[in-house]
Amino acid sequence: MTRAPLLLTGGCSNVATVVVDDGPPRWVIASVSDDPYDVRTRVIVDRDGPLAYVATELQPAQTTGMAERGYVVVEGERGRGVNEAGFALCWAYVDERKVEPASQGLTSGQFTRKLLGECPTVATALEIIDAADRNFAGAWFFADAEGDFAQVEIGRSAFSIVVRGRPEPGRFAINVNCYQGPAMAVLQQPWSALEVAAAPNGARRDAAAAALDALGHPVALADVASVLSNHEGAERPGAAAPWVFPSQGFSVCNHGTFGPEAPADAVAFGTVSAEILDPSTRTLWYCYGWPCGERAAAGDQPFQEQSWGRFRPFTLDRLPAGAMTTIGGELTPEARGALDMHAVIEPDRSSATEARA
Ligand SMILES: [Zn+2]
Repeated sequence: MTRAPLLLTGGCSNVATVVVDDGPPRWVIASVSDDPYDVRTRVIVDRDGPLAYVATELQPAQTTGMAERGYVVVEGERGRGVNEAGFALCWAYVDERKVEPASQGLTSGQFTRKLLGECPTVATALEIIDAADRNFAGAWFFADAEGDFAQVEIGRSAFSIVVRGRPEPGRFAINVNCYQGPAMAVLQQPWSALEVAAAPNGARRDAAAAALDALGHPVALADVASVLSNHEGAERPGAAAPWVFPSQGFSVCNHGTFGPEAPADAVAFGTVSAEILDPSTRTLWYCYGWPCGERAAAGDQPFQEQSWGRFRPFTLDRLPAGAMTTIGGELTPEARGALDMHAVIEPDRSSATEARA
């Protein structure tokens, strides 16, 4: 059947934290990637540019493409990644009031490929943003192997550095699908704002901040995985139009569903993968599906049965070029031959389950 065009307006929660384990404190950036459940991510390694990188790539699981269905991001787009210089990025979509469909400026897909393929440091990324003609909008994190970090809100007509700085233990930052600084907030659609209770931005940001605050000890990578699995707000019914793709949930680990009344062919919107990017080791820790590892609870959550519930380390230095996972969540033969299969990060399931009880 033909589906009505849908406007994907994002649902990704991103967290940046200072991790303290074996070495000196360092910034690590992390994300859940939220899409309609039939738009998937896979891990891919690019080695054909000036800098090699490992990234997530968006791919539709249906024969209809993403652009044909009205998505604002396109198949093949790299969403999160880290390159061989140790520069890493992730971002969350922002809906701006003023768009320019005829603009020749960089799209988000072109921008991420340019940064991952050419940019060695956060400082260089900021120079590239300033010089670029931009035709996208979002809330971005950049981190590098030198310990630099920036939270940057980037729009078509302006950009703003919200947080910049060295990895001091206890620091963190959170991005959701809106601008948080007043200078940029005037550029976005009013229904996106943090204070709009019917939209899930404020709820997801507050839940992530509370989870990070509650850790009360030096943050390890496993703590980041637990924050990405947070279910605070999951009991609320999904958000409605016009703000966002209907059915999106209000929790960081998003179990969006249209509920029991959903038509048989409905596809809801939720977390299709999660990522932790560690610049110091040039590693993309990837989890297919929900990081909490729960099973699909409704028929409108296709592919989520395959959720890994744990993160595997896609360390660029070990990997050949090409696809490392499939859109169904399987490792490719190339990945099986290169991955450290014993290294996994497991979120703390007791806290994730508690919030859902
Ligand atoms: Zn979950």
